[in-house]
Amino acid sequence: MAGFKLTYGNMFNPPEEMHKGFDKAVAKLKANLGREYGMFIDGKDVFADTKFEDHSPVNTDWVLAVMQKGDASHANMAIEAARKAFPAWSRTPWQKRVQLVRKAAANIEKRIFELGAAMALEVGKNRMESLGDVQETADLMYWSATMMEENNGFIKPMGKDPLTGYDSTNTSVLRPYGVWLVVSPFNFPFALTGGPTGAALVAGNTVVMKPATDTAWIVRLYAECLRDAGFPPGVVNFVTGPGSTLGQALVENKDVDGMTFTGSFDVGMKMYRDYANRNYIRPIILELGGKNPAIVSRNANLEDAATGIVRSAFGLQGQKCSAASRVIVEEPVYDALVAKLKAKVDALVIGDPTERGTYWGPVINQSSYNDFKNFNEEISDAGGQFLTGGHVKTGGMFDKGYFCEPTFVTDLPFSHRLWQYEMFLPITTIGKVGNLDEAMKIANNVNYGLTAGFYGSAKETQWFFDNIEAGVTYANRPQGATTGAWPGFQPFGGWKGSGSSGKNGGGYYYVQLYMHEQIQTNVKPAKVNGKSAVKKLVKKIAPKKKVAAKRK
Ligand code: NDP
Repeated sequence: MAGFKLTYGNMFNPPEEMHKGFDKAVAKLKANLGREYGMFIDGKDVFADTKFEDHSPVNTDWVLAVMQKGDASHANMAIEAARKAFPAWSRTPWQKRVQLVRKAAANIEKRIFELGAAMALEVGKNRMESLGDVQETADLMYWSATMMEENNGFIKPMGKDPLTGYDSTNTSVLRPYGVWLVVSPFNFPFALTGGPTGAALVAGNTVVMKPATDTAWIVRLYAECLRDAGFPPGVVNFVTGPGSTLGQALVENKDVDGMTFTGSFDVGMKMYRDYANRNYIRPIILELGGKNPAIVSRNANLEDAATGIVRSAFGLQGQKCSAASRVIVEEPVYDALVAKLKAKVDALVIGDPTERGTYWGPVINQSSYNDFKNFNEEISDAGGQFLTGGHVKTGGMFDKGYFCEPTFVTDLPFSHRLWQYEMFLPITTIGKVGNLDEAMKIANNVNYGLTAGFYGSAKETQWFFDNIEAGVTYANRPQGATTGAWPGFQPFGGWKGSGSSGKNGGGYYYVQLYMHEQIQTNVKPAKVNGKSAVKKLVKKIAPKKKVAAKRK
């Protein structure tokens, strides 16, 4: 789009061209729903005996696609293909790998409207969030390619060690591990499959991708962008099926050399333990849940705070790992902020997320829909008040999908478990504190440390950055209190129970996680006046040695 660069920070007023492109793509897709798609193993489509229908959460009568219910045999087949392809791929010059990853990213950009439309139908994201997920994926892949290039393929000369009579060249080389497994969640199915996959591939690993069952279709379309870029057979593989069977078989396969999992804390921790089943330690990158606070000081710009909090609490129906699920407000501005939050939520449009005016779509599935009802009951029983929402939406189109009201809760005691538990739904609790130290204590008193937001004065802002325990932090940001990171600007990753690597995706230290270091020391005799200093040295020493030997 000429002159417009889509990010989550500027998606609120896109050029008209974007709307037109998206509308056309939705109409075209809707006319062709229900096709069957294979898995993709060793360069070929592979079909399982059992299939499953992929229904839209917007309207469960819509069958988006028919997908393969793969099992352990498909998991093992994909890993075998990746293993076979690894030697040649890892020896492919890094420049060629960069070129192919860039080509795949360009393929994504070419199909952005179709992919965005499929995303909105399958995940229930609004149109700009959907297009954002697709563009972010391309940008994550470009970023990893650029990091490779800027670091000369991570082939770097080291210092010379001071040897007598010899010269050494010492070179540090980062080299790929082997077969890399990528398991992704439903909420950012494109970026959280594509970000790790792009990094793994450009680093020289071969990849097996396993998407969430709810978002198997969109990730199949991602696999097509890779396929069409021309990666050799087996370098990229894509399998679908239940996490508990096919997913578990992938994790238990000892031929996997590295893995990236993005998803819930409980599943990630189980995987971490199961994955420790080989005779040595293999790298595992875990990107897990969040319970992200937004702290509002008495000195905050309340209009910016309210705008940023509503966007982050309820974008994608609160199903972002980075969602602002806790709001902690200093007492003097509490009433004024709460009034603004309510007014902004009341203005949100709920409906079909493919439509232009819709901000808010459905939650992902029946189980999330049920959880929403149960959590609200628990909140009500504990004395929590609903500033907004608290119910599912009913009547008309709402009866066909999983629509819930954006729910702000007040008066729930800070001691209640839901101040610490990740609900992953459009439910955000709001609490009042006497001062900022108290706010910080509450903010940090969780198992997680993913994102955090702050609204206040410049001096307080530095205090916030210095004290908050989180990997992605924002101050005074109306574009989103805790959400909306973009590769190259806000590398994304968590501390504590939110992430294992301590290095953020889309940042300077990420692609290196997909490689191990080899130091290559090459020693040659040093030359003095054009002649080998070692030969000279040996000649000098040798006669003495002979004499010494005769004496014996
Ligand atoms: P889940 O943990 O339920 O699932 C994630 C993936 O794991 C899915 O592909 C799932 O497959 C698979 N899986 C489940 N069980 C196993 C198993 N035993 N072995 C192998 N794979 C398995 O997460 P959700 O999809 O519900 O995503 C939401 C969670 O992700 C939230 O907690 C959120 O905070 C977190 N998240 C974290 C992010 C971060 O960057 N830190 C970003 C985005 C989300 P299947 O669907 O078939 O069960």
